[in-house]
Amino acid sequence: MELNKDCMYCMEDERRDNLMIEIAKLEVSTVFLFKEQTYKGRCNVVYKDHVKELFQLDDENLAAYMRDVKRTAAAIDKAFQPGKINYGAYGDTMHHLHMHVVPKYENSDNWGSTFEMNPGKTHLTDAEYQERIELIKKYL
Ligand SMILES: [Zn+2]
Repeated sequence: MELNKDCMYCMEDERRDNLMIEIAKLEVSTVFLFKEQTYKGRCNVVYKDHVKELFQLDDENLAAYMRDVKRTAAAIDKAFQPGKINYGAYGDTMHHLHMHVVPKYENSDNWGSTFEMNPGKTHLTDAEYQERIELIKKYL
């Protein structure tokens, strides 16, 4: 699969690393902790190849990707006990398949509505990021 030189996921560059921290490699994807942590435990599951649409995956890879998303969501659920987990695959300007896995909490930000892509208000210390990452890893 060809790398797209304009894509932060293909290039694994600082544009990506400014937004997220790698947690682990899964079956066909890499899971990241999103640095903006308004939604405690929010992650991003990034498919291994530069694929634009979910329907472009063959059945085997689609199932594997969904297993990765499931595994991530289950780990977040165990680690943080949210009221509900939201799933977001948008990528209008980023044609590299990825899914935001966003825990939502009752009576907290955007409960009952769609999550904000980047509220830009909740950032942690490096130690706090590591603590969240370790907790998620424990359940992955
Ligand atoms: Zn890409």
